[in-house]
Amino acid sequence: MYRCNACGNKTRFDVVERTRSRSYVHFSLGGEASVEEEEVLEREVEQVTCRWCGSSNEVVTEPSPGAPGADSPPSSPEYETPPTSPGAETPPAAR
Ligand SMILES: [Zn+2]
Repeated sequence: MYRCNACGNKTRFDVVERTRSRSYVHFSLGGEASVEEEEVLEREVEQVTCRWCGSSNEVVTEPSPGAPGADSPPSSPEYETPPTSPGAETPPAAR
């Protein structure tokens, strides 16, 4: 997670990040695509800006209290896709 040293904000940031990912995309014959699997190969945070004071060079990274020892990248709900898509139907492949 992040913390802004200028104003103390710990919850709201603009995060610019670059990701390289591999996706298993399933196309229907009608041309509709649905991503069934996604693996993030590379993830680089380029810039973090505080939403409160707009400062970007006062923002520091600090370990998330909820994940002891885990070095997983900070996740924000806006950028994450839900792990399960409720409406996705996967019919058995008929040959
Ligand atoms: Zn701030």
